[in-house]
This record gives sequence, structure tokens and C-alpha cells, in this order.
Amino acid sequence: MTLSPSATAMRTHLCGELRREHIGETVNVCGWVGRRREHGEHLAFLDVRDHLGVVQCVVDNSIDVRSEYVVRVTGVVRARPAGTVNDHLPTGEIEIGECTVEVLRAATPPPFPIDARADEVDENIRLQYRYLDLRRERMQRNLRVRAAINSAVRRSMEGQGFVEVETPMLVPSTPEGAREFLVPSRKEPGSFYALPQSPQLFKQLLMVGGVDRYYQIARCLRDEDLRADRQYEFMQLDAEMSFASQDDVLAAISSAVLDAAEAVTGERPPEIERVTWHDAMDRFGVDKPDLRFGLELVELTDVFGATEFKAFAGAAAVKGIRVPGAAGEYGRNQLDKLTDRAKGLGAKGLVWLKVAADGSFESPVAKFLSAGESAAVTERLGAEPGDLVLIVADEWMTTVEVLGQLRNDLARPPVHEGPYRYVWVVDFPMFVGTDEQGNPKPAHHPFTMPHPDDLGDLETDPMNVRSQAYDLVLNGWELGSGSIRIHDTAIQRRVFSVLGISDEEADRKFGFFLNPFEFGAPPHGGFAFGVDRLVAILAGEENIREVIAFPKTQSGTDPMTSSPLPVDAAQLATLGIRVLPKG
Ligand code: ASP
Repeated sequence: MTLSPSATAMRTHLCGELRREHIGETVNVCGWVGRRREHGEHLAFLDVRDHLGVVQCVVDNSIDVRSEYVVRVTGVVRARPAGTVNDHLPTGEIEIGECTVEVLRAATPPPFPIDARADEVDENIRLQYRYLDLRRERMQRNLRVRAAINSAVRRSMEGQGFVEVETPMLVPSTPEGAREFLVPSRKEPGSFYALPQSPQLFKQLLMVGGVDRYYQIARCLRDEDLRADRQYEFMQLDAEMSFASQDDVLAAISSAVLDAAEAVTGERPPEIERVTWHDAMDRFGVDKPDLRFGLELVELTDVFGATEFKAFAGAAAVKGIRVPGAAGEYGRNQLDKLTDRAKGLGAKGLVWLKVAADGSFESPVAKFLSAGESAAVTERLGAEPGDLVLIVADEWMTTVEVLGQLRNDLARPPVHEGPYRYVWVVDFPMFVGTDEQGNPKPAHHPFTMPHPDDLGDLETDPMNVRSQAYDLVLNGWELGSGSIRIHDTAIQRRVFSVLGISDEEADRKFGFFLNPFEFGAPPHGGFAFGVDRLVAILAGEENIREVIAFPKTQSGTDPMTSSPLPVDAAQLATLGIRVLPKG
């Protein structure tokens, strides 16, 4: 008899592992009762399920078991009678016959069926009974994909000489950009710890501490509105390297990600390509381009350099996208909606052109375009009869962002559709936008090293300074970010000054972080990527909640534990906290 590696004192095999080769063996399996069918008074068919799968058990005497009872079944594996083989089930060629069934635990009927039908159930109910939801094949698979990724990442990082170091969960508030969760101090009422947005400052101090190559699969917490790819708590593969260039960091992280992907899909993705931030914005209108599909943004600014068409005249940037074969699908109503969408995204308007059978444009504005302009649009975009062309003319950033969003709206495939297209986005700008005081805001975080070629422009032309920051993107999801850090205090003070942070304020707020650098900080850089996001994409899930055992709902609550909850006045008093009435 073949002994299963999963055998225990109570079972010889897993339900889901039984196959033809087990025919004739007497086995014990344990699990939950799924479907139950009676044939007359004395014959019952039970589906018994464990984490690996389902097996059919034939019981010759009537027994009182119901859905989700926990049972131990003893019987003999046999071939299913001709005509009853189930091709959809890995165990579908066999069944366990002559079964005796021991009830290990009776169960209350579950609030939803423990199978694919639960996908249709209200998510709040699924999360309220998450422990039942987790029994399902889909969730079991997702948890296993997650474990496989964690394990492959650890192997890869250790193989590359990275050392796992844990960093604290109770930390000071840090300027990394996200809103923090605060934890009141009992010993010092009125003072607070923050929960870490990331181990950023600690990992940099580990470099000062001579650790050389650090990694951690770290829990990070950010009090930000939740979305499909965002939870309050999430896991990052966090890493930092001393004496390393951007290429070194990219190579190390690429290995870990590709190793993880290979562990799950069985296929090693090709080397990860690179695109500069400027090219990503210019071609795809986003800094997290989805390369699985075309509809690239096409440059038309020069075509309309001397145009008489008012909407395009004098625009800093004119660009277009071609939606192949879409002219017929888009009626007036939908085109109006697209135009509203473009305006909602910040454009002054949207020009649409349908390409007619003879190659001419059908559009209310066609008559304003010169023959030369129309010909150039057709040629640049490769427009063919039946295509729909969308054009935006505005400031460069607005033009690319609006078209980039329309490109995604119109053609982005669902997550489960391949292929996997990883891309490094490099040469991010140092600053993006300004705060209420008009100071530039850091695109990554304030500890990011400016691009060496642009350092001289830091004070004079900050918005055009590039940084040594990079993102890893997979199929339009930002997996993570990193940068080469500033290890020189003089440069750090210059960056703070551009951000409107005085030397005095910097010393007060970040002294604990900056002073240690005076004792000899090595040049260093690092990266962090979101494990939940990688798992979701590789598991084909649209929402990271599906790959987290106990996630929060979209509104940040946990229906299973009812948290967050008010606490006793006495508990608050110990912390020196009084809660103001609502509203
Ligand atoms: N701490 C950064 C983040 O969480 C990543 C890094 O720069 O290493 O985005």
C-alpha cells in the first residue's frame, strides 16, 4: 500500500489524492460532507471534501449525516461503474465503497453552499463566515499560491545572500506619504506610536548597521481608502542592499519575482524589460502601463502645429489612440459618454473620428481638419476603415493621462487573461505636484537620490529633476517601488529644503534617522513589492481580498469579528483618551 505523505493517525489518504492506482486498497479519509444523495432506503452517496479535493463515498446503510458534518470514512477504493465516471473531477474514475462513516463533529447548516456557488454570495456574508469561505477550492488554491510565492521569494533572496531581519511594529510617525495608524502610549499619555507604513527607515538603518543585504516579508499598514488592490494591512517583500547600484537592485528583485512566478506557473517569464517613466507616460499615459494590449498613444502635436482647428491650435500636446474596428460599436450616445469621461478626467474635450469605408473621417469636426492633417492622422495611427480614433489636445500631462485612462477603459483585459507582462519603470521624476504651501511633493519618498545628471538643477528646476526611483509593474498593476537612497547629509538637506522642510524641522522630525548617517552610511538602495498583488495576478483574481485569509471589506471593517469596535471607558482612561461625540 502507498502511504500518503499526508497520512495521520486518523487518515491514510487525502480525499483529493485518490486515483485508479489506489483501487483495491482499504483507506481512511477525513473531511467535510459535501453533497449527499440517497438511493432508496439503504444506499447513500456522500461527497467528502478536504483541502485537496472531493471523493465519492458509497454507504450501504442509511446514516444520519448532513452538509458540513466532519466525518472519517473507512472503505475500499474501487472503479466507478461504467457510465458513472466524472471527467470533471480528478477523483472521478474511482469511489470508496463499503464505507463505514464515523461522525467526528456534527455541524449547523452553513449559510451558503461551500462550493463555486458561494462566488455569487454577498461578499459581506462571505467575510462574516470567512472560515467557511476558506474551505472552498478557490480559496484553498489562492492560499497555496500565496504560500508558494512566499516560499520561492525566501529561497531566492537567501540564495542571493540576503538576510531576513525583523523590524518593529511600533514606530515613530514617518514622512513616507501615507496616512498612518496611531497607537496610543499608556506610559506616556498623549504620545503615540505609528504602525509602520513600511520598514523604510529601519532598513536604511540596518545598512548603517552593516547588514549589507536585508530582506523581510513585512507587514505594512496604511490608513488609506481601500480599493481592489489596497488593504489597510498588506505584505511586502522588503529589501535593501549596500554598495549597490540601481542595476544591482533591479537584478536582485527581478530574480526573486521571476522565481516566484515560475514556482506558481511552472514557466519562467522572460527577462523583465525596462521603460523610462517619460516613455511610459508618453506611450501609455500611466506610470503603470499594461503591456498586454496595444492602443498606444500616438504623437500628433506636430501634425497640428499650424492648424486652423481651434480645439487643437496652440495645444502643448496632441495625441491619439486607435480603437480597431470600434466605429460600428460606438453610437452617438456612447461617444457622448466617452467625451464626458474625458472631461471628467480633466480634458477640455475629446475629438472622435470614425474611419469610413473610403478612408474618410465621419465626425462633426472632420470638416475642420485640412486634407493634409487628416492624411497624417490616418498614416500615424495606421487607421483603417471601421476604426475609431480618439484625440485629446491639452497640456502634455493631461493629454497623456486622459488618453491613458481611456485606453485602459476601452481595452484592458481582465486579470485572468495572459500573458504576464512585467516591466521596470525607471527614471521617475523626483517631485510630482505641489502641496498646499506650493512646495513640490516627492514622487517616491524624501530619501530618494536624485539622478546624478540632474543634481545641479535641484533648486533651480526641481520639477524636471529625475530621481533614481523605479517601479515594477505587472499587467498594469504597480507591484512595488524602490530607489537608490541619499546617504549624504548635504544632499538630504537640499532635498528637504526643496520640500519646504527646514534644517531645524528635519533635525526635530528625522534626527533619529539622519544622525546615524553621520557615523558612516554606506551608499545603498532597495525596493519593496506587494506580495498580495503578485499573488492576486498569478491566481487570476481581480481583488487582493481574495488572496488574503482574513481581509477587511471595502469600507475597512471585518464582518467576522465586527471590528473596529468601541472600547470600554476604563480602557480609554488608562490611555488618557476621551472620545468626542460623533458628528
Ligand atoms: N518603502 C518603500 C515603499 O513601501 C519601498 C522602498 O523604497 O524600498 O513603497
